[in-house]
Amino acid sequence: MKIALIAHDRKKQDMIQLVTAYQNILKKHELFATGTTGLKITEATGLSIVRFQSGPLGGDQQIGALIAKNEIDLVIFLRDPLTAQPHEPDVSALIRLSDVYSIPLATNMGTAEILIRSLEKGAFEFRNLVHGGDRDA
Ligand code: PGA
Repeated sequence: MKIALIAHDRKKQDMIQLVTAYQNILKKHELFATGTTGLKITEATGLSIVRFQSGPLGGDQQIGALIAKNEIDLVIFLRDPLTAQPHEPDVSALIRLSDVYSIPLATNMGTAEILIRSLEKGAFEFRNLVHGGDRDA
């Protein structure tokens, strides 16, 4: 599965904790991330990650473009609900596209853990069944 990882600044430690705890599961999948989130995860875990621009510089939109091409199966987006973001429109657009394309999306640690655990149980097979035919890669 193709998994996008994004964390706002005050959630980056949570993201590193999450990915470290579940790296045995996550290493079996293709990982994508916005710039700084990806860098910090790689530094902490050594996992290989395709990195885009930093979120405020367009990274959220780059991941949104992949969602629109049906090239992302799961989004983990640890948002900071207490801090205004300069790129709030991009954040909303990414979440909106996840809804448009029915992509499982976690915006907090609780949901993220449930979704990552469910990866191991084959819960994402429906993505192949529903979208297997029109996927590019
Ligand atoms: P960053 O972007 O990983 O480059 O910090 C995340 C975001 O703020 O959307």
